[in-house]
Amino acid sequence: MNHTKARRLSNIISIIGVVLLLFTPLFEKVPALLVIFCAAGFIAIGVSFILIYQYYRCPHCQGVLPVRTLLIPSFCPHCGKKLDEPER
Ligand SMILES: [Zn+2]
Repeated sequence: MNHTKARRLSNIISIIGVVLLLFTPLFEKVPALLVIFCAAGFIAIGVSFILIYQYYRCPHCQGVLPVRTLLIPSFCPHCGKKLDEPER
């Protein structure tokens, strides 16, 4: 998995996790569903973090790329080499 796919997949999974956590107050009278939604939300967010730290790396120096920017960088901030063009 390249860094572009990892970033996009991580974004999608973390959004799903946040949405699951936002739905948990709806189930405060059904503790089983509340626990399931809460656990699934935290697991999704955890998986998105794991994806970032495993795969969102420079292909040249393996440095973790910055996650606090909206855009996927064109150049690695660690070694300065050009990153692959994002796939459409
Ligand atoms: Zn690099």
